[in-house]
Amino acid sequence: MLKTITLMLVVAFAAPSIANAQLKVVATTEDLASLAREVGGDKVAATALAKGYQDPHFVDPKPSFILAVSRADLLIVVGRELELGWLPPLLTSSRNAKVQPGSQGFLDASQNVKILEIPNGQITRAMGDVHPMGNPHYWLEPGNGRRMAMTIRDKLTELSPNDKGYFAQRYADFDQRLTAGEKRWDAAMAPYKGTKIVTYHRSWPNFMERFGLDVMGYVEPKPCVPPSPSHTLELINEMKRQGAKVIVVEPYFDLKTPQAIVNQLGGKVMVLAPSVGGAKEAADYIQLFDYDIAQLAAALKQATGK
Ligand SMILES: [Zn+2]
Repeated sequence: MLKTITLMLVVAFAAPSIANAQLKVVATTEDLASLAREVGGDKVAATALAKGYQDPHFVDPKPSFILAVSRADLLIVVGRELELGWLPPLLTSSRNAKVQPGSQGFLDASQNVKILEIPNGQITRAMGDVHPMGNPHYWLEPGNGRRMAMTIRDKLTELSPNDKGYFAQRYADFDQRLTAGEKRWDAAMAPYKGTKIVTYHRSWPNFMERFGLDVMGYVEPKPCVPPSPSHTLELINEMKRQGAKVIVVEPYFDLKTPQAIVNQLGGKVMVLAPSVGGAKEAADYIQLFDYDIAQLAAALKQATGK
């Protein structure tokens, strides 16, 4: 009897701390943090390192990042070398064995997604910042978002097996809202199937393929190489020839060149959010598409008259 009471007391005292024990999740981008919140709910405390309005290739590693990574139970990365320029030193400085690549607390979110632009043959410096593991901007496609959420669900379940049912239910709910979103986004983009479009950087191949647009050129002559006069001139001629009028630009690029190009064509520059937090309306993963699709559809309507 006494034993039972003691046990009950122990459980009673222990229970609140167990209930409040949130997994500390650090994600390199706001998209990943948003998906971790969708699936993890109040069982996780998720924070992001890079802000959605920053270029994810070049992030200033702040001291607070080291602290966050040092305390993390789980680190989620985009992978495909996106964070190659800034994450490895952070990981070393964090001295957190739990979240090093290969450890249980390290998750590469790209393992089950559809990756485009995987180069064949040898990669040379002359090609610019080409990613040998394919285009790392894969999160900009709802099907990939679903796969990423599934990967995160499985990892959270591995780290916290008692919450398996909770994560499964949260994932199912997210999946349902994402499917409803896809119907909205497909309907909004349907009139513009096959429309030629230009983007500043190669951030949008998954997005444009999913919504039926044809990317015919880039403001950057090569990935991560700033615009040059000769490339810009070629691009203007090609846009005229193919009838492209809209240029999609990420919020961290200078608008001068894209604006000069569209001025010659009577077109439009559209700044879209390449990540959650890239615009204040894009506060989570589903809102990111609601925002981008609404902006893009409006620009295409104006440019094409459809
Ligand atoms: Zn890139």
